[in-house]
Amino acid sequence: MYRTSMRPAVFISHPASLGHATGSHPERAARITAIEEHLESLGWLGFERREAPRVERELLELVHLREYVLGVEAYCAGGGGALDADTIVGPDSWEAALRSAGGAVALVDALIGGGAQTGFAAGRPPGHHAEAGRAMGFCLFNNIALAATHALRRHELERILILDWDVHHGNGTNDLFHQSAEVLYISIHQAGLFPGTGPPSDRGSGAGTGFTLNLPVPPGSGDEVFCALVQERVLPLALRYEPQLVLISAGYDAHAEDPLADCQMSELGYATMTASLRQLSDELNAPLGAVLEGGYALNALARSVAATLVELSVPAS
Ligand SMILES: [Zn+2]
Repeated sequence: MYRTSMRPAVFISHPASLGHATGSHPERAARITAIEEHLESLGWLGFERREAPRVERELLELVHLREYVLGVEAYCAGGGGALDADTIVGPDSWEAALRSAGGAVALVDALIGGGAQTGFAAGRPPGHHAEAGRAMGFCLFNNIALAATHALRRHELERILILDWDVHHGNGTNDLFHQSAEVLYISIHQAGLFPGTGPPSDRGSGAGTGFTLNLPVPPGSGDEVFCALVQERVLPLALRYEPQLVLISAGYDAHAEDPLADCQMSELGYATMTASLRQLSDELNAPLGAVLEGGYALNALARSVAATLVELSVPAS
């Protein structure tokens, strides 16, 4: 037996994400540009950069309804428009969506058998609101659900933890794994905010009962509240569950500067939550990957992603 001494952290993105044109909209290409310019100025924090592949059609249709996938493809090809009140697509959104999902899936391949211990996938559109047959809340395909499904089916994992710290409840992910014990889905989100789902009473159903944990927080919650929930609720449950892979639905819209919500997180809080998960990941020898969700204050988003990456790149103890 030998151990590789260096397990590089990977950062996965694709220029196609910039082609997803949403017009005057908070979920815009400048989000990715802001992140990448900031990371560039930091020498990418030692991360190995990789280009996101397209998600495989078979996987896409395993998580999403075939007619929905075909409908999105045709709608984009026809020039696009509004899929719902706030989910806008253009002709190049299809390619961006395939790469956004593909980046999350490639992150799993890098983490499971690919030699990387940690990584970050930074695509857009985001994913956690997307349901099996419905685009919603800026999301077309559920990138993190596709990544987790890939880990279960292709890599034959049996237990995956998804911590969703985006300020909005990830209704799509919540529902896709509602009846499954193979994914422990935990969401910390601002109570009463879009999409209005995710009460504490929603703990999953059927075989998945107890494998969904919703932790709504009041408006005004900041680092202290979020980090305490991770320490006191997420980690003890996760240690009992013993996930083989830890994924973060990494949205940064709980940041104090974010225009879409009323929470008060700082980049220090994101660093602290990441460090907690990193400790969990090391303890369980389960790799840790983060997939970008929301975050609409450009500078705060860039700084918060960098803070996450710093903690992801700390060598394992
Ligand atoms: Zn959000």
